[in-house]
Amino acid sequence: MPEAEHLSTTHRPHALSLHSIACSQLFRKELSASWTGSHTPVLLVGEEGSGKHYIARRLAAAMLCDAPDPETGACGQCASCRTLLQGSHPDLIELEPLEDKTSIPVASVREEVSATLPVYPQISRHRVYVISAAKSDTLTEQGQNALLKPLEEHPDFVRFILLTEDAGRLLPTILSRSRVIRIGRRDDEAILDLLKEAGYEGEIGDLAVRYADGLPGRALTIAGDEDFRALRDQTVAIFRQLPEATRAYCLTEGLQFFRDHKARVAVILRILESLLRDLLVLLQNGDGAVLVNRDLSSAFLAMRGRANEMDPAMAGELIRQTNHALSNNTNFDHTMARLLLGLRAFLGPKTDARDTFRLKAAIV
Ligand SMILES: [Zn+2]
Repeated sequence: MPEAEHLSTTHRPHALSLHSIACSQLFRKELSASWTGSHTPVLLVGEEGSGKHYIARRLAAAMLCDAPDPETGACGQCASCRTLLQGSHPDLIELEPLEDKTSIPVASVREEVSATLPVYPQISRHRVYVISAAKSDTLTEQGQNALLKPLEEHPDFVRFILLTEDAGRLLPTILSRSRVIRIGRRDDEAILDLLKEAGYEGEIGDLAVRYADGLPGRALTIAGDEDFRALRDQTVAIFRQLPEATRAYCLTEGLQFFRDHKARVAVILRILESLLRDLLVLLQNGDGAVLVNRDLSSAFLAMRGRANEMDPAMAGELIRQTNHALSNNTNFDHTMARLLLGLRAFLGPKTDARDTFRLKAAIV
């Protein structure tokens, strides 16, 4: 059974409805204005996890639907909606980089967009192009140039939806031809509703909301990640040991943990970042209710005993440096060893002056 259909019968009663995008009324109005009548290309701008693809799919469904509602979009019942729910739709063209590539070839823009523009839609009133320029290299300058003419001159039945994380990286000529809609972060309540609709409630839903930090895409990923809880528990266990840990522990067991979970290191770093942030909140006598890991507050309180020696803010900087090093393909073992020894230096007693000195020198 295709995924969309599966979801529509179990978790999401209206899998194409704009109701479930967890956004303010004002945003919905802005969105509605973008597809009712106008054929100006729509550019959805939002950071990773903000729900660009989720919203684009529902927006496309509304443009394709035979009987759309100005507020909720696609009806979910007509021939077009049913076709879309079954998987593919002949009047929907989606341009994304191929699985093993980071960018869309210019040839694809020419073949799949420019060359098909005059073709009449097969089952809908419109033909919709959804084109991703998510990252800076997803749609190169050449690719964007190839899109300019289609965006400006196209038959009345053609609609464009473009996506990007950073509008500043697109050509000004693309921006000036588009209706720009910015997708902001959502409040926890809206994300909780979205999770509930997707079938996630209780403890896992609560944890996902706190880790999501306003990003519904991140919330859904965490809630659907069966290993997240276990990974967090293991990360917390190491985090709690670090202040007392020996150098040898960091370079053996600690390092091994990262090696064993190399594919998930980005998630582990996010967990560590949230632990440090929570610790900082508690050290500054902040409200325990705002902690991301509020179920662990007693563990944090035990660590708080050494408040005068700790520097969680500096440790947070170390995490950011680690992320940076990983994205630049720096040696994995070396990067993780540096992280572990650094966290130990910032969270533990300042006896190993050599480590502390070296790390501080690297950070400043
Ligand atoms: Zn419909």
